[in-house]
Amino acid sequence: MVNIDYNMENIKRCLCPGCPVQAKSECVQEKLTKMKSEKGDIPAKEDVPGVYCSTGKTTCDGLDPSQMCQCGKCEVWKEYKLGECEPGGYYCAKGEAR
Ligand code: SF4
Ligand code: SF4
Repeated sequence: MVNIDYNMENIKRCLCPGCPVQAKSECVQEKLTKMKSEKGDIPAKEDVPGVYCSTGKTTCDGLDPSQMCQCGKCEVWKEYKLGECEPGGYYCAKGEAR
């Protein structure tokens, strides 16, 4: 079991916001817009369309799993050595790292 901190640093480093897998999801885009307009406190997990390696599957639909997951390029993924854990990527669909 890996515990990936849900904090501002990891939210900022997460590459999910620019990932093509969720780019066409209206629900994801709405959350991104809302996040950009809110400054300051750490947002609630359900309001962040990312860090799924920490928080688990997305509550949004409209994902396109035929596109490429970006996690392998992410600094969070490297720091926590997530390539050595399951599921290795596509956390938005497969759930948190373990
Ligand atoms: S977990 Fe991977 S596939 Fe899912 S949105 Fe993030 S980068 Fe994309
Ligand atoms: S490993 Fe993937 S889900 Fe986790 S912070 Fe990085 S891009 Fe986001």
